[in-house]
Amino acid sequence: MLISIVAPCYNEEDVLARFHEQVQKAADELLPLGHDMEFVYVDDGSRDRTLAVMRQLADRDPRVRYVSFSRNFGKEAALLAGLRHATGDSVVVMDADLQHPPELIRRMVELRLQGHDQVIARRSRTGDPVTRTLTARLYYRLVNRLVDVELMDGVGDFRLLSRRVVDAVLSLTEYNRFSKGLFAWVGFPATTFEYENAERAEGRSSWTLKSLLNYGIDGLLSFNNRPLRAALHLGMALLTCAGLYTAWIVGAALVNGVQTPGYVTIITAVTALAGVQMVMLGVIGEYTGRIYYEVKGRPHFLVKATNVERTKDLIP
Ligand code: UDP
Ligand code: MG
Repeated sequence: MLISIVAPCYNEEDVLARFHEQVQKAADELLPLGHDMEFVYVDDGSRDRTLAVMRQLADRDPRVRYVSFSRNFGKEAALLAGLRHATGDSVVVMDADLQHPPELIRRMVELRLQGHDQVIARRSRTGDPVTRTLTARLYYRLVNRLVDVELMDGVGDFRLLSRRVVDAVLSLTEYNRFSKGLFAWVGFPATTFEYENAERAEGRSSWTLKSLLNYGIDGLLSFNNRPLRAALHLGMALLTCAGLYTAWIVGAALVNGVQTPGYVTIITAVTALAGVQMVMLGVIGEYTGRIYYEVKGRPHFLVKATNVERTKDLIP
């Protein structure tokens, strides 16, 4: 079996060589069992010497294929490029910052041989800040109510995919990619195992609070139109409340005579309704924005350098 390791890299010059050393070790262990390995490294427009490191690695190790983007296109695009350029019968997707322990590759391959099409590594949240753990738990509960596929807390992109899963994922050409969800959406027999969370080896995480929030919104909106339906339900609920309140006011006026209605009630109602309308408009806008990007049909990424021959993605 040929196993491809796909790793997106953004500013990972400090850690990439060490990462390669460790996956090589995993490859050495698997070779006697009859498994070959190739490494597909995607440089997502790094500002440091990541590409130079990749070239060095490729010079020394013919199993290394690298693809370098013309600018930073984001991890999702890097992942897509990696999957497109992987030729293996199984593909292991992992981060280059050593947060996904390469020792686990062997375990994944064993599980793959037992017939699972996806072997998903799920990280424990030990060592995470409590607030992050709690928000994650709440978020997943909310998401799983809304989206069609089941997303699990602690499950990221660290997983082994069989060839047919890779081909299935590649057949999804949408512009806004939420890989975690795409992997879940394609289905096929999957199994999960847990591993201890590791600190980032070098450099720093590119996640900010804002990007996490946006990622969360992407997860909610990229599957179906249930948020639109929720907006509709909210509108109907509000309308019902307004109707009941009006009936009550009119009833009170008939019984007690007309009294000057409260200023506070009016202000509260107006601001609350304006807020709700803005939120609904935002939801509609999000979907429209997605349509806008899909309709433009732009490529997910542009390649400026690669050692992969005959790639369709290189812009000469
Ligand atoms: N990454 C990427 N493009 C980006 C941001 C990140 O290719 O724009 C890569 C990064 O090099 C790493 C992986 O995606 O291999 C995960 O990124 P990071 O460690 O920042 O995320 P975290 O582990 O905190 O979720
Ligand atoms: Mg990381």
